[in-house]
Amino acid sequence: MSADGAPPPARSPGGHIRLTSHSAGAEAPQLHWGAPSAAARGPVVGTTTTRAHRNVIGTHSGAYGVYRALAVAAGKLSREHRADLTDTAPTDVIGPHPQWTDPDAIVSLDPWGATVADVFADQIAAGIDIRPTIAVTKAQVILPEVHDAILKGRLSPDGRVLLGTGAALVTKAALEPVWHLPGVAQRFGCSETDLRRVLFEETGGMYPELVTRSDLEVFLPPIGGQTIYIFGDPRALADPGVELTARVHDECNGSDVFGSDICTCRPYLTHAIEECILGAQRGGVGLVAYSRKEGRALGEVTKFLVYNARKRQVGGDTADRYFARTECVAGVQDMRFQELMPDVLHWLGIRKIHRLVSMSNMKYDAITGSGIEVGERVSIPDDLVPADARVEIDAKMAAGYFTPGQVPDADELKKAKGRALDG
Ligand SMILES: [Zn+2]
Repeated sequence: MSADGAPPPARSPGGHIRLTSHSAGAEAPQLHWGAPSAAARGPVVGTTTTRAHRNVIGTHSGAYGVYRALAVAAGKLSREHRADLTDTAPTDVIGPHPQWTDPDAIVSLDPWGATVADVFADQIAAGIDIRPTIAVTKAQVILPEVHDAILKGRLSPDGRVLLGTGAALVTKAALEPVWHLPGVAQRFGCSETDLRRVLFEETGGMYPELVTRSDLEVFLPPIGGQTIYIFGDPRALADPGVELTARVHDECNGSDVFGSDICTCRPYLTHAIEECILGAQRGGVGLVAYSRKEGRALGEVTKFLVYNARKRQVGGDTADRYFARTECVAGVQDMRFQELMPDVLHWLGIRKIHRLVSMSNMKYDAITGSGIEVGERVSIPDDLVPADARVEIDAKMAAGYFTPGQVPDADELKKAKGRALDG
């Protein structure tokens, strides 16, 4: 350990020590979080090459920064590689919105992150490695559930939002996390000093600058980011007079991608997409904001351990012990902490969600608590709840999730409804 408590830095493959804690100098562009323009705010520079240019802790690409390191270690990628950003500009202009210049409204992403190639073209040409943290593109999404909805007459292709092929037209954006540490600390009600120390300690000392460089206020954390899918005109999202149907969805790979039936994640997601398409066809706009927070941000290993514990416990898989089983394994019921989630909504300029396709009280409270008005809340139709997911949905409704229907009582919650492991 060094005198300031930080562990000694690792040696590079070349043998010399690459210090991260005392390298930025006068050459690093200044950052002024919440400034009125991208130029005044300054570029986020997380480069690992010219270290004197760095003005943040951590590096780009979130968790994928580790793969970048592997590519360098394996000799497949030059450290000096600079992205050629020709023709990578956003397909749709998002913002700027008034929320972008409120330093408290957005603390976990860089609102100017999509336009850096344009705004900071001169600095990039001068040799500063400035990278976008947001990319905006267009796509067609084709889902079997949407096909099925067309066959059953619930959806009709209009050639604008939904094609005759069953493909829905979307604008989508990928966002990497960019944390303004003072703002993140404020959201979680802790001091910035405590946040920095715990982040340093709980990542095994991965970022010494968290504790040695209090002048660096921005952190690029090694975690998953977010993807948004917009159905209809992205500019309409900021107009509270245009009906907005929205779902904020947290990643569940087992259900979302593989159709595992122990939870309602994919059926709720595809129901939301159906509602988004219908809303856009009515002249409104639809939004799905998808966050990489697998298994309530506990990860899939913990999640699968909990599944086993639920199904092996005496009395079988019951709603009354649903949250307790998670807490036994993970120590908490949930680590998604929705406090940062509304930032992406503020990035889009959203002030009102007319139809929120979610039953989660935590998401609802976070959204309304951040100043966004919510109209109707749309629950998952009962016939879309898989049989094995009854335990989850009953437990959530009993815990305060929104439902227009009956909240299960204590006797109901004690009934085993989940399938046995070999069932
Ligand atoms: Zn799930």
